[in-house]
Amino acid sequence: MAKLIFFGKPMAGKGTFSKLVSKETGIVHISTGDLFRKEMADETELGKSIKDKMDKGELISDDITVELLKKNLPESFILDGFPRTLNQAEMFKEISDIDLVVDIDVSDETVIERTLARRICRKCGAIYGLNIKPNQEGVCDKCGGELYQRDDDNEKTIKDRLEVYNNQTKPLLDFYKDKLVRIDGNRTVDPILQDILKTLKEKSLYM
Ligand code: AMP
Repeated sequence: MAKLIFFGKPMAGKGTFSKLVSKETGIVHISTGDLFRKEMADETELGKSIKDKMDKGELISDDITVELLKKNLPESFILDGFPRTLNQAEMFKEISDIDLVVDIDVSDETVIERTLARRICRKCGAIYGLNIKPNQEGVCDKCGGELYQRDDDNEKTIKDRLEVYNNQTKPLLDFYKDKLVRIDGNRTVDPILQDILKTLKEKSLYM
């Protein structure tokens, strides 16, 4: 059993590595951004009420976020995109403990470059970008689904999101300092993945 947080700036690779590590270890990947996007796609009341904030790259309220996560929390998990504020971390402490926080550390330049290149498969959720390009532009290699660009993947929004990260999310590094391991995320996928898996093995969170 493992209770993990994958932490980092927007576009650090939290989604990519959560999926890869989940596939390798069987630990369930939970992305609060995906949970919110599903609410929007299903056009639920919650989905409609958050669309404006999501499009602007602003944070959804802590109460709504924690409530939605609580409903979707398995025993063993990789959290991707949560917590984003000190208050969320404190609220989550009442719900669950945490074994390890993996900080995937990248520069602002990497963040902006990756944002403009990111494409996602509408059908299976596979992620493409600078380092993982599809064989055919606009088409998913895995399932043939259509690749799309998220509404919030533009330069203005990513700069706003970096500011939100610096003001509200970065202070969590101190909150979790006893559980924190830092991984250099300014590299290609494989060495980063190997570093993360090695760390999990060293901490006996994965055999
Ligand atoms: P992500 O897919 O993690 O980049 O999240 C996309 C958007 O979903 C963010 O810009 C926020 O609007 C919202 N969101 C995701 N996770 C959280 C969170 N933990 N707290 C507040 N808002 C969130």
